[in-house]
Amino acid sequence: MVKVRFAPSPTGYLHIGGARTALFNWMYAKAQGGQFVLRIEDTDLERSKPEYEKEILDSMTWLGLTWDEFYKQSERFSLYKEYAEKLVAEGKAYRDGTAVLLTVAKGRDIKFDDLIRGLIVFNTDEIKDQVLMKSDGSPAYSFSCVVDDALMEITHVIRGEDHISNTPKQILIYEAMGFKVPKFGHLPLIMGTDGARLSKRFGAVAVTDYRSEGFLPDGLVNYLMLLGWSPGNEEILSLANAVTKFSIKRVNKTAAQFNMEKLKWTNAQYIKKSATESLTDLLIPVLLEEGYISASFDRKWLESVVQLFKARMSTLREFLERAGFLFLKSFVMPQEAHEELAAKNVKKEFLLLAGRLEEAQAFDLATTEKVFRDIVAELGIPSGDLVHPTRLALTGNAVGPGLFETMVALGKERTIERLRTAY
Ligand code: GLU
Repeated sequence: MVKVRFAPSPTGYLHIGGARTALFNWMYAKAQGGQFVLRIEDTDLERSKPEYEKEILDSMTWLGLTWDEFYKQSERFSLYKEYAEKLVAEGKAYRDGTAVLLTVAKGRDIKFDDLIRGLIVFNTDEIKDQVLMKSDGSPAYSFSCVVDDALMEITHVIRGEDHISNTPKQILIYEAMGFKVPKFGHLPLIMGTDGARLSKRFGAVAVTDYRSEGFLPDGLVNYLMLLGWSPGNEEILSLANAVTKFSIKRVNKTAAQFNMEKLKWTNAQYIKKSATESLTDLLIPVLLEEGYISASFDRKWLESVVQLFKARMSTLREFLERAGFLFLKSFVMPQEAHEELAAKNVKKEFLLLAGRLEEAQAFDLATTEKVFRDIVAELGIPSGDLVHPTRLALTGNAVGPGLFETMVALGKERTIERLRTAY
């Protein structure tokens, strides 16, 4: 049976690269009817932090990357010690003070057939004796990693390309311990649009940042799965669907480029097809936190607003930008909108419109539209001449949903007030 693992070190947040590695392992496991292990590599007791571990687990859960088994290396120190001592007893490793090192014989080619990159060869002339246990009694990464991969019966080690040079060292450890060597696959790195490796400099790299920015987990997962893999010409596909198509052979050898615009576009597709009720559920805490709504908000009205904007936003946070004018009590028109209105000068038309809307019996789509169209007809002006300034006066924005839908969402009182105070 196929068994893979994702083995993050809790020395930082789960970042985009780590999430992509976890996702590819997860997809591979599911595609093969195998199992996925989550192993926290917290051997560096100083740099590992419980809050990072928690965040990694939360982000994995949020992304929907469930695990079949869970381990923490900090709970397995006695195992590593035991295996290191065994190697010393067998004469394969030696002590240097309190550290333990593996003897590496020179002049040997170590070969492995990488699942993604094909045959890779390293010569042991370039490999020093390997530290297995450090002098402080903690295991070196490669040693605890191999002991665990072997004991957990990992069949395929799929990880970032930055680990390629660790692989021959780890193969030597497998051999010394008499363990079966698993298959290895090294995923291409993820680059920023500037061609440099994705880093903090690039902006958000932590999954949790994307979460608070209002990306949906399905949207982010959909985007991440296409970073180095392609199912053909589909761009929008669910995780369940991707699993039926996933093949490690189709993973690219060349670096993948992280493209924020593409991620936003992908996320927008998911927002658009989400149920309005669930989008509303996701937005409520954000709106409360930002003071856009109070505890006694009108859910029905909020849902109508979400419905109006859901085809016009690529993240939940964008909803705040686009629809903010519907929430803020004291509306301050942006300078640009002010200038544009001043240049148009439709003050008289606004006052006329405000008066008629005030007199109208109802304030629904049909009524607002009729009032507006009648005025335009009476004045004999093209309706565009009044639509654009009206939208500016009501929303502060040149683009947005339909004008009458906007009026209804804003409500009678605020629509009239904004028209009257625009100049
Ligand atoms: N803890 C290592 C890391 O986070 C794991 C590498 C591996 O997958 O072997 O880079």
